[in-house]
Amino acid sequence: MVKRAIRRSQPASWLLIAIGLHCLVLTIRAQTTIARFSVQLDETRTYIKVTGDIQLLNSTPYLKDIYGLGNIHWSIGGKEIAVKAEKTGNLLVFSQLPSHGQAQISFEIKCKRTPGEGKLNGIYIFENGILACSGFFPGINGLENGLVDIRWNLPPSWELFSGNQGPQKYAVARDRLWAAGKAAFKTEEQLGTVIFKVVVIEGTTLSGGKESLDRINLLFKYAFQNFGPLEGEEYSLILFPKGSIGGYALTRHSLASEQQWMIPVHEILHWWSNLSAPVWLLEGVHSYVAEKMSLKFGLSNEYLFNLYLRTCLYLHQAKVHREGQILSLAESSERFPQDLKYSDIYYLGALFANGLDRAIQAQCPTASLEKVFSLVCKDRHNKFDLMDLIKKETGYDSRSFFDKYFYAKVENPEVLLK
Ligand SMILES: [Zn+2]
Repeated sequence: MVKRAIRRSQPASWLLIAIGLHCLVLTIRAQTTIARFSVQLDETRTYIKVTGDIQLLNSTPYLKDIYGLGNIHWSIGGKEIAVKAEKTGNLLVFSQLPSHGQAQISFEIKCKRTPGEGKLNGIYIFENGILACSGFFPGINGLENGLVDIRWNLPPSWELFSGNQGPQKYAVARDRLWAAGKAAFKTEEQLGTVIFKVVVIEGTTLSGGKESLDRINLLFKYAFQNFGPLEGEEYSLILFPKGSIGGYALTRHSLASEQQWMIPVHEILHWWSNLSAPVWLLEGVHSYVAEKMSLKFGLSNEYLFNLYLRTCLYLHQAKVHREGQILSLAESSERFPQDLKYSDIYYLGALFANGLDRAIQAQCPTASLEKVFSLVCKDRHNKFDLMDLIKKETGYDSRSFFDKYFYAKVENPEVLLK
């Protein structure tokens, strides 16, 4: 018995050693530094220059053809080489490079001064800061798990707020938002394994002053406890001076926005968004809850909260007047993602949320729309039925409210304020 057991264990141990060696090779390959990139902002602050050393390792390097990309050069051992660049979709794919060895690349990307409408892309420069969105480091197919060493050469007194220097996983460096600048003040809070950073860029007039940073930290903690923990390690809120940028919730949990607390709070709450929710809930109800929470944590006051609802009413009415037609919230939501002019989901959507919140509280004084919202966020990886959830949580049957104010055209939206 024993002998047989020993005999049978021998091939098994060789197999284990072989698997172990294979894993070791894979680990070494994953931990090999496949590239070194250095990012430099030019003195006139009009473009960034990226220089890099890339281990070719049978890969096909490419660059995302983003706004302002130019002056691309390849060299080996200091000697410039001719490389074929072919446009495929929104990528510039490089060929005719040796399959192995080390090559150097350098290129420039012009910085944009003001972000336009819609999604952030490219590099944005401000008086005291820079934002670089994903996709400006060269792509290296098949080596996503390898390490890249990244250096930023920044103007004096600037520092990186989003992103780290030194060796890091290539796929993370490639996909993240990079932000740097001169900070007026910043805070860092640890919640479990998550770090929440707030950075206020020099020149930002913060409503509520520096003390409001404690309030935003408390709001984040409250959301973390009530809307469920977040995945990932780092979340940051970067506040830029007014007029430089709107509000954006970005992937890899980074965010840039301006000083009116309503916008940052709205963007922070997107970290808990249930993406199966319809757009009027994701944006309209979301804005209303953000306003309510700003009020709760002293980042706003009753006057500003009422002003917000009045402004929503005014903007909704101005839109109806301009277009000569009333659309129901259901109709505006259907058209919104394709056409930004149906942004009434933010105005009528917030008024609807206010009316619904009051109707819920009339039924059950201890319940609120925020409580329902927190359940949607908590279970954010699953689909849900909002009316069912409201009924279950608060006892309020919201069907007739939806029929009247969501599916039908609301002739007199002021009733939603009462
Ligand atoms: Zn939003």
